[in-house]
Amino acid sequence: MLFTTSFLAQLFPETKGVVADGIPIKEVTTDSRKSSNKSLFIPIKGESFDGHEFIKDAFNNGIVATLWNKDKKLPSFLPTDFPVFFVEDTLQALQQLAHEYRNKIDPIVIGVTGSNGKTTTKDLIGSVLQSTYRTHRTKGNFNNHIGLPLTILSMPIDTEVLVLEMGMSHFGEIELLSKIAKPDFAVITNIGESHIEFLGSRAGIAIAKAEIVAGLSNDGLLFIDGDEPLLDSFHKKNNVITIGFLNDNSRVIREYNMTASYTTFQLNDSDFRLNMLGKHNVKNASFAIEIAKQLDLPQEKINKSLLNIELTGMRFEILKGKNDVTIINDAYNASPTSMKASIEIVKQMSAYNRKVLVLGDMFEMGEHSKRLHRNVAQVITDEISHVLTFGEDSEEISSEVARLNPSVRVQHYHTKEDIIRNLQSYLNEETIILFKASRGMKFEALLEQLV
Ligand code: ATP
Ligand code: MG
Repeated sequence: MLFTTSFLAQLFPETKGVVADGIPIKEVTTDSRKSSNKSLFIPIKGESFDGHEFIKDAFNNGIVATLWNKDKKLPSFLPTDFPVFFVEDTLQALQQLAHEYRNKIDPIVIGVTGSNGKTTTKDLIGSVLQSTYRTHRTKGNFNNHIGLPLTILSMPIDTEVLVLEMGMSHFGEIELLSKIAKPDFAVITNIGESHIEFLGSRAGIAIAKAEIVAGLSNDGLLFIDGDEPLLDSFHKKNNVITIGFLNDNSRVIREYNMTASYTTFQLNDSDFRLNMLGKHNVKNASFAIEIAKQLDLPQEKINKSLLNIELTGMRFEILKGKNDVTIINDAYNASPTSMKASIEIVKQMSAYNRKVLVLGDMFEMGEHSKRLHRNVAQVITDEISHVLTFGEDSEEISSEVARLNPSVRVQHYHTKEDIIRNLQSYLNEETIILFKASRGMKFEALLEQLV
């Protein structure tokens, strides 16, 4: 049980039906298809559908109670004793309920935002802390104004640590999420270029991410990417811990080394080993280490967890393909920062003679899109042997590589079939192929034909 109808009646006093008996509610859902005889239903008006229209399905699934917009007509099939809570705005009510439930359970709350690495860092923090605390965290990418409240409302009542991913594409969104969640620890993983379309510039993006302090508790701590100049104003503040490779950070990462399957590094002179690859993941892991230290986890426990990180799929997943070719599936999402980060990792993988990049479009770059695609070419240096691109703006990558670095073989393709056909001659154990594009490019379909 999460709470009872009596808890709801205190928050939303305008009611109908039998609400005072304290009927238990075991889950909260906005989706009538997922409702059951355990659910409180919260109908939300979205872009194409209004949840209120699905009350019949929800009722037939046995829901325990529902919130209801007070301006809408209540359907006559609902029995007179069925518990209904009337509110001005069901979305706001969902957020308010999440906030109150967070306060009632009062776990240690950790909020993670940033342009790239939110999900990874959230999973790293969750994996490390669950070795010691009853930990609940955002599933997948459920990080917006609806997903975050629902994540809070799915935490068991005995939760000790709650780890929340906070995503955004516009100003004001992180502030809202932070005020709902009231984090004790907040993390800004990095500032990149995602959603620049709506935020104008990287400086705008930095301001939007910094909104996470709006809900930070008074004695809370903020952890930031200390190597990012746009976050300089946070340095030397007493509730801020800066983490990075540069020496002036409050926690400094040194001696970074990568093998084909793990990475070793030092954070403030202690040694760590991580079962993930790449410099950016060392930083993501360092946030998890520092938070774990704040919560008194011993170093051995942290170290053990870092070798057993479970991640949400399709993020730099290393697979064996046909003829023992090595394939990296990083097609879950892409932004300029993350695309460059992934290419950097491939460049550092010395075990392969041939390194092939299959790159597709990065979405939501607005008017900057062509330039940002072109910029990716700057990191495509001699270590890379082939670049294959597919998609409208990705052509900018191949033409720019051809201009900057004639020793790299480049080809732009108009169909996925052509890519597959041309990859056939590269399938052997000396080759590594990186697949990277925005989710909408559906690169997983390409990959399936090679694995
Ligand atoms: P989304 O906006 O889709 O929720 P996210 O912020 O949750 O993205 P992840 O899914 O964790 O990000 O990682 C996406 C990609 O970003 C990774 O595959 C990796 O290439 C890159 N990445 C991860 N961490 C960092 C980082 N700290 N700095 C730069 N790039 C990163
Ligand atoms: Mg994410």
